[in-house]
Amino acid sequence: MPFYGDPWMDNGLVNLHSILKDIPSCRTDLGDDGLTLSIEDKDDFIKELSKTIKARMNSIAFYYTKDKNTGEKRNIKKRHILIQYGSKVEGKNVLKEKILSDTENRVRQIFQEEMKGSKICVLCNREYSKKVDNLKQSVHPTATKIRSLSGVRQKREYYDNLCPLCYLIGSLEWLDKGLVYLNLPGKNEDSFAFLPVMKDLRILSEFKTYFVDQFTNPADPFSNLSPERGFVEGEYSVMLCFYEKFFERVWLKEEVENYDLASEKVEICTDWMRLKIPSGIVKNVKIFSLKIPKNILKSIYELAKDDKLVYSSFVHNLFFSSSRRAGGDLRENVARGMLEDDFRRFSSGLLPRKGGHVVFIKEAKNVLYRLIPLWRMEGMGLTDADLKDLKSVARIVGVVSLNHISILYKLDRARTPAEFLDALRELGRRLVGLDKNDRKRVYPPALTKLVDLVELRMTEQQKFENVKNILTVYSCVEFSMLNYRGKGGKKSED
Ligand SMILES: [Zn+2]
Repeated sequence: MPFYGDPWMDNGLVNLHSILKDIPSCRTDLGDDGLTLSIEDKDDFIKELSKTIKARMNSIAFYYTKDKNTGEKRNIKKRHILIQYGSKVEGKNVLKEKILSDTENRVRQIFQEEMKGSKICVLCNREYSKKVDNLKQSVHPTATKIRSLSGVRQKREYYDNLCPLCYLIGSLEWLDKGLVYLNLPGKNEDSFAFLPVMKDLRILSEFKTYFVDQFTNPADPFSNLSPERGFVEGEYSVMLCFYEKFFERVWLKEEVENYDLASEKVEICTDWMRLKIPSGIVKNVKIFSLKIPKNILKSIYELAKDDKLVYSSFVHNLFFSSSRRAGGDLRENVARGMLEDDFRRFSSGLLPRKGGHVVFIKEAKNVLYRLIPLWRMEGMGLTDADLKDLKSVARIVGVVSLNHISILYKLDRARTPAEFLDALRELGRRLVGLDKNDRKRVYPPALTKLVDLVELRMTEQQKFENVKNILTVYSCVEFSMLNYRGKGGKKSED
């Protein structure tokens, strides 16, 4: 069985290998370009494989709840799994796909067909003699029965020409412990599934084994990456949570000391195939690719090394002062800005809005203050002293914004160094008008230093924007803390 170059099927191969290697009646070997299988006793093999498939189905495709009235345990299909229910058997839910409902017969059919024949499989190009089923969504999520939704793949032969082994590999991928999924609690919310994309099957297998063994929880109906409390907010939060756990539970346990040398110990996947699965009846699955930039992974890793967790301690703890519930978009947006290396999205996501401001608990603030230099200093011509000045100016922005919030937005909206300097001058004028108590809280010379920095060293657009966005982030934190204190909260924790 060869390397496909199709993430669903390649993950399927690795998954099949993980199923087969525990079966005594066969030997299996995963090479960098394919899987080989030799069966010692066919009858034993068919029985053992069927048993393993059933067990996987029960632990991975289903989750369990207790009926409130009868106390009975019920098995429910996880929402991201694109296989329909069949009719119940002895009060239990079953999945309609034959490999799961009539497992032993289907497995027998697959392994008793003559392998060679005159037909050619659309997925692997192998010759085969007789199919066991068509290509459909329960075998490959991008296949769909509705022709108008399947784009160029409209020819009838496309659905018909599927070899038995591709059927097996594709349909069992739904039972992959390494398929990262997210089923949001809302009834009409989309589901997501993530597949790692790597070019070498052995490395892919190793990567998946590490994370499956170390930190996934297959029993969770929402996500196999659910945090200890609450749930992940969306597709970007899930990935951020994934990498944080990977570094914490895998690399740091393996004593990886240096990000750049880490691949010698455990290679990390940076490319993912992301499936967006709609909640309605018509399941037109959309596919996106997600590539995480190296500098972002390095920042997450360096934080984890310091026991600072960018998802659990920072993103997951953000909320609006007006309503905790409205914070879902906020957290997802900040996670997205970070994973896409989009600092603008990240910084503007933290601005006050919806009649409230973002609240930064101490733990979140500490991680953020460590993250900014890790993420935004390299190649930007900034020194530690510059960052200190930026924090001092942010304090001024925070104090002034308590009565004139428009200054915060004006600074953030500046498109050029000239517009930014203009806003900084306005900040300076507002500073003069502060009362004695407020003046004590700020350090005015920092403002002059920031003006110099922008005029002399940050004239390049990219560098200027970086400084401006850092100021926005720090100002949002200052504004939030001063606001909290102003409303009778505890003294700031710094
Ligand atoms: Zn095939």
